[in-house]
Amino acid sequence: MESAGLDATPPQVMILGVPVHAVTFAGLLDAVSTWIARGDRTYQVCTASPEFVMIAQDDAAFRQVLRQADLCVADGVGLLLAARFLGRRLPERVTGSDGLPLIAARAAQAGWSLFLLGAAPGVAERAAASLTRRYPGLRIAGTFSGSPDPSEDEALVARVNASGADILFVAYGAPRQDFWIARNAPRLNARVAIGVGGALDFAAGKVPRAPRWMQRIGLEWLFRLLREPWRWRRMLRLPRFVWAVIRNRERALDGK
Ligand code: UDP
Repeated sequence: MESAGLDATPPQVMILGVPVHAVTFAGLLDAVSTWIARGDRTYQVCTASPEFVMIAQDDAAFRQVLRQADLCVADGVGLLLAARFLGRRLPERVTGSDGLPLIAARAAQAGWSLFLLGAAPGVAERAAASLTRRYPGLRIAGTFSGSPDPSEDEALVARVNASGADILFVAYGAPRQDFWIARNAPRLNARVAIGVGGALDFAAGKVPRAPRWMQRIGLEWLFRLLREPWRWRRMLRLPRFVWAVIRNRERALDGK
């Protein structure tokens, strides 16, 4: 598949019609580096979770965005478990929340500049301040809260382009951030655009990340649910995802 833009295309696992690429953080960083060196267009990265996959079941346009993205990385542990259940393997969770600081660290060395778009007013600025403290030499080309409403597209694209950023992080939550990138990519000058959900909230210290031990045993979602109980309705998609994957395997084994 030419569109991944990597030297060797990472294998992908189809989970309920959504391609999830078998890449590690190192692979993501290599891809970003390759894309910036190429400089031919804007490459899109989606940080997919079971929630993305379930939204895509009912929303064909979102499914299309995920299929056209250059990389869909496995942000949620549920995707790793589903892949294993389907007899395939995804190497590790590649979260937007860890990807942002990792890319920022590489950017500080390589001289790439970043634009942080989205989250509540002031959050992107705080995230930028925290990242530049952690990674001296990091260039933040711009920050802006803005809105994912299409009526704002033109102004936001102009702002991001004027900044000269190489990499754009978009934090409007799924599916809005991914639609935003897909429809604006043709007009963006940034070489890479990544939808990162709540990553700016974490980087700004607005919301704490789950402890490492909880992340390691696959319970980061539970931590988020306990801290932000209003997520319960959204999280009902998780059991629906499990059930859909089980039914999907039975269909696959039946050959239907
Ligand atoms: N957000 C925003 N504008 C919107 C909707 C959401 O800036 O119209 C931001 C919100 O402040 C948060 C991020 O988008 O920083 C999405 O966070 P959430 O934790 O819901 O995303 P997830 O990581 O669960 O996909």
